[in-house]
Amino acid sequence: MTSNLDPRVLYRLPWNFSDNAISWLEPTSMCNLYCDGCYRENRTGSHKSLHEVQHELDVFERLRKCDSVSIAGGEPLTHPEIVEIVAMVRRKGWKPVINTNGALLTPELLRALKKAGVAGFTFHIDSGQNRPGWKDKNEAELNVLRQQLADLLHTAGGMTCSFNATVYPETLTEVPTILQWAQQNIDRVHVVVFINYRMAILGKDFDFYIGDEQVRFDDMMYSKKDDHRRTDITSPEVVETIRTVYPDFMPSAYLNGTERSNAFKWLMTGRMGNRHKIFGYTGPKFMELVQTWNHFTKGSYLAYAPPALQRRGRLYFLLAPIDRGLRRIMTSYLGSLLTGPRAFFSRLHFQSIMIIQPADVQKDGRIDMCDGCPDITVWNDELVWSCRMEEQMRWGGNMRMVPHKENTETV
Ligand code: SF4
Repeated sequence: MTSNLDPRVLYRLPWNFSDNAISWLEPTSMCNLYCDGCYRENRTGSHKSLHEVQHELDVFERLRKCDSVSIAGGEPLTHPEIVEIVAMVRRKGWKPVINTNGALLTPELLRALKKAGVAGFTFHIDSGQNRPGWKDKNEAELNVLRQQLADLLHTAGGMTCSFNATVYPETLTEVPTILQWAQQNIDRVHVVVFINYRMAILGKDFDFYIGDEQVRFDDMMYSKKDDHRRTDITSPEVVETIRTVYPDFMPSAYLNGTERSNAFKWLMTGRMGNRHKIFGYTGPKFMELVQTWNHFTKGSYLAYAPPALQRRGRLYFLLAPIDRGLRRIMTSYLGSLLTGPRAFFSRLHFQSIMIIQPADVQKDGRIDMCDGCPDITVWNDELVWSCRMEEQMRWGGNMRMVPHKENTETV
């Protein structure tokens, strides 16, 4: 399977440990849903006090630059002081973006959050959530729920609207269905994120260590016995699946792995079009200019562009001289005057698609994390990977995997 994705051609996003686009705040690990593959234990009574939240924001301020803070969990809307937490993030000069399953979002709460300065929402919706009223629904059927939340935000206006979905082996082929829905709503959905399902497989290949001490891992949130269900879907595979519906789908920027420089751990695509037609995909030069310009003018790399800018697609053509992708889009757009005037005369929007490939275990036990991880959070005044914070909570450090002695010959 060739996805013609070459890390030497795509733009390597400049995001790093101390100078990134995003940071990740968890005011609670309590949740009202149970998602297959979730990496946070659902702890009742785990709401952090405003003092604790303020302390974590101060740690971020001391150790890391960012454009926006993802307020996540657990389910952040279960926190009774979520409105004040949003205001605290905004007061630091960062864009507060709430990562939520959306089940608790009412028009009244949305109004209060908007008044407090919320910049946007990332709604986590997929068929692996055991969501009351939506059980056993496939991704196409869940587009109805996505529509409700997209319309709610669109009516309120002025906020970034993103959706994320975990990609399970059983739902990989449904990824294009979500993107087709997102095209039909390109005027109100600014970002779509796909996160490949991951779990640590127990048993046959590895032992787990903290320092020199062997530890049990079988009761860790993100571990499971080997049920032969794939836990290694790659970003290029998702690209190939998307191309079954959007043949010229072309990413332009990425984050590599901490162990593998040619792994696409975060794979970013910018597409331009409207509900009638996708005219094409922005190139690496455009992504480089956007990140560099934001850093030069605002002091941080860009996470979320203002919605007002995303619906002014024709404006982007001013940058066509520097980016081949934009030149192709412009050619396709001008051509549509003859081939599809409705598409030509409709507004032109920009929409981002991100594919995330979390931790990958190498044969020798090394764990390939996302180099320049945007979802870094705070634990004990340190910056840590949020996807492995359960290890910090349990052992105060990240575990390492060691091939079973009897396996070393074969590794
Ligand atoms: S390293 Fe973990 S927390 Fe960071 S971006 Fe990758 S999956 Fe997310």
